[in-house]
Amino acid sequence: MMKNQILLALVLYTSLFHFLEISSGQNHPIYSFNQQKNHEGSSNLIDLKYHLGPVLTSPINIYIIWYGKWDPNHQSTIRDFISSISSPAPSPSVADWWRTVTLYTDQTGSNVTRNVALSGQFSDRAYSHGKSLTRLSMQSIIKNAVISSSSGRPALPLNYSNGLYLVLTSPDVQVQDFCRAVCGFHYFTYASVAGATVPYAWIGNSGAQCPGMCAYPFAWPGGGPPPPTGSGVMGPPNGDPGTDGMISVIAHELAEVATNPLINAWYAGDDPLAPNEIGDFCLGVYGSGAGGGYAGAVGKDSKGNGFNLNGVKVRKYLVQWVWDPVRGRCFGPNALD
Ligand SMILES: [Zn+2]
Repeated sequence: MMKNQILLALVLYTSLFHFLEISSGQNHPIYSFNQQKNHEGSSNLIDLKYHLGPVLTSPINIYIIWYGKWDPNHQSTIRDFISSISSPAPSPSVADWWRTVTLYTDQTGSNVTRNVALSGQFSDRAYSHGKSLTRLSMQSIIKNAVISSSSGRPALPLNYSNGLYLVLTSPDVQVQDFCRAVCGFHYFTYASVAGATVPYAWIGNSGAQCPGMCAYPFAWPGGGPPPPTGSGVMGPPNGDPGTDGMISVIAHELAEVATNPLINAWYAGDDPLAPNEIGDFCLGVYGSGAGGGYAGAVGKDSKGNGFNLNGVKVRKYLVQWVWDPVRGRCFGPNALD
């Protein structure tokens, strides 16, 4: 565990190649450039195991809580991504990408569901818990969203059978460990706090705080001076580095919630408090040949922006790969082999 900012800065500025997992677990670690953890090729170092707990086999109902002030265009980008998970689009599609997640099963042999729907939204425009949040705040924010109504909109249902809550914070919101150790995390609510045990994930918009860390490759990790030629930095396909960067983190967390919702199903390592999950092995891997700070072989749209998946409404997204349990390596539908 290296949650030390100074060390991180050192790592960022000294070695700009290879990806390092700063912290793992239910956390989505930030990318930095140093060391291993790149398993585009198969690796026998991966000890991903099934720990007998449930995976999300029933159709998933996603409830988004928009925390803070959100640009409607950025909200559309994210909503369309969620809608793309179970909708047809030209190959390689977001739905093709999710297919790898559905290869995971529970102890009855049931697979993770193919059906993921956006079932409700709640806008917490008044920053109900302030602009500086802890990890535990997320549970209170969910609780608030299921009991209060806002501007004529009803509260969200507390769907404890197949709900999945996504707390998305606007660029001006600070969150414990955000930009230092994590870009997002997933966990489950405590019945004593939220009224039931439901899986949830938080993802922050890093655009104003640390795009080089949480929105790479749409921003340069070194900050300040322009990136050197061949840095691999590319334009965001939906026009906003913070939001396009969030898409990949949302995808990462959804894949991990689906396969490890109660932190007792699919993960590697002996410590359930710091598990390595199916997205963690593939940080920074978006296409074939990825590694050393190179995102891999991805497409370019007509403006030269990077993407690797197609979604609904002619959307394009850049989403990291996940560990494929059949192939035994990181995989995505844009793979060249
Ligand atoms: Zn993760």
